Amino acid sequence: MNIQEHWLDCATHIPSPNCDLRPDANDISLIVLHCISLPPGKFDARFIHQFFCNQLNPADDSYFRTIDQLKVSAHILINRQGVISQYVPFDKRAWHAGHSEYAGRSRCNDFSIGIELQGTETTAYTDRQYQQLALLIKVLLKHYPGLSRSRITGHSDIAPGRKSDPGESFDWRRLFQLLDKQADEVKRLSGKGVDKGA
Ligand SMILES: [Zn+2]
Repeated sequence: MNIQEHWLDCATHIPSPNCDLRPDANDISLIVLHCISLPPGKFDARFIHQFFCNQLNPADDSYFRTIDQLKVSAHILINRQGVISQYVPFDKRAWHAGHSEYAGRSRCNDFSIGIELQGTETTAYTDRQYQQLALLIKVLLKHYPGLSRSRITGHSDIAPGRKSDPGESFDWRRLFQLLDKQADEVKRLSGKGVDKGA
């Protein structure tokens, strides 16, 4: 998994028109996790692609009539099988957070990367999703120095009362355990006896 020109090489690229310039293209310093399913509770990623590209057909599902005028996007979707799609290059601003605030700073879209997990707030996410998410975050952290492990948050945390995703179904401890495990492996592979004892 690599990033080239702000696109993930292993992802399916589905460019969304719902993006614009970041106020500071070099300020990429927060990862925001979300969940989405369309129609709600159904796991058909095709409708998510259509939603983020303003191509939902209201005739396909009555729920779509309530959202088909919205202009939104995220950088990334990880579907139930762990397949990754990218809609917006990381140096551009995707429209995922809405009215939001992180550590006293508002307008989180300006400086964040939005990652959608296909799912609901009450359905367990899949093993593949956790694995792919951890790998993706590892690659992002390496590529964008403004990001850090301590600056990974949920939509519910930056828009409390208004948003509740990724929900109770998301196991934050599991994500951080996977990130730890990967960090240990990187250390082991690159260190080769780095711990020579004192
Ligand atoms: Zn969200």
